[in-house]
Amino acid sequence: MNWRGVIEHYREFLPVSERTPVITLNEGNTPLIKADRLRDLIDKRIELYLKYEGANPTGSFKDRGMTLAISKAAEEGAQAVICASTGNTAASAAAYAARAGMRAWVLIPEGKVALGKLSQALIHGAGVLEVKGNFDDALAIVKEISQCYPIVLVNSLNPFRIEGQKSGAFEVCDQLGKRAPESHFIPVGNAGTIKAYWQGYREYKEAGRIDSLPRMMGWQAEGAAPIVRGHVIENPETIASAIRIGNPASWDAAVAAARESRGQIDMVSDEEIMEAYRHLAEIEGIFCEPASAAPVAGIIKYSRTKGFDKGDTVVCILTGHGLKDPDRVLHISREPLSLPAEMGAVRKVMGL
Ligand SMILES: *Cc1c(COP(=O)(O)O)cnc(C)c1O
Repeated sequence: MNWRGVIEHYREFLPVSERTPVITLNEGNTPLIKADRLRDLIDKRIELYLKYEGANPTGSFKDRGMTLAISKAAEEGAQAVICASTGNTAASAAAYAARAGMRAWVLIPEGKVALGKLSQALIHGAGVLEVKGNFDDALAIVKEISQCYPIVLVNSLNPFRIEGQKSGAFEVCDQLGKRAPESHFIPVGNAGTIKAYWQGYREYKEAGRIDSLPRMMGWQAEGAAPIVRGHVIENPETIASAIRIGNPASWDAAVAAARESRGQIDMVSDEEIMEAYRHLAEIEGIFCEPASAAPVAGIIKYSRTKGFDKGDTVVCILTGHGLKDPDRVLHISREPLSLPAEMGAVRKVMGL
């Protein structure tokens, strides 16, 4: 049967009724990929799965929350939506708003959004506004605008975003065969994601779909690790632009998810992120964006410090597609060789 998107598939767990117009791009149902080669480098005694959210229609998990946020906005008769974004929320909001026939406004930190994400927002016809500040500054502005005007905020402060995003946890359990992993690795930026997945696991357990809960293992980048350091970071810096956030909106919920699940929130350096990013591409054939590689770096770090238990099932969410940020590759790879169009020249380079 054709997959009809997150709302139809998980309707009974979501705040929708027959009156809710379903605005969907058939998001969700992303692959849960067993990563044995990467696992062998880390700890041969565990099972490692990567949930590839880059396979969503706009290339990130943001579509899971956006389908619900835009559908509920449409139900309320909204004509316009607004968000602040490091890029992926903007891309997703722009696409779903286009489909709903709504105006989308997106505020992005000037010069800090990856090219792929910016192109998406533009092609879907969003009003793209670059502010001379960071994500946190942009979020403060859109919050105020949405309070003063009939324009719906579709950042993860919008509860429907979280409700939709929790479907990612449902899918992990369904794909593992009605069970939860022992630990769930995930990047932490504005922290709506870790909050949503933890909520999803808890609801699935309450509904009797799974028997246990995973430990939630959240990862920030060292230059943008307010939760780990315990204070707001005024000028967050990391190559992982999707988690370049200094004052997460769901800070308390992220801390609670880690505490309640007996997990943790920790950080990795940009070097560790880039190493994981390369490894994934080179040995598993999976291309994700730098922020998505942060929890993979986290798995490597955790295995070297604390260590997993034998037989643990470890799931890592790869939040976004590598093509979102193609420039990053060109910074770290050798340029293609330029040759004359002659067999001899090609053979020589290939060592044949
Ligand atoms: C949004 C996003 C994150 C972080 O999610 P938060 O809810 O902000 O913590 C991580 N990776 C990617 C690719 C994202 O788009």
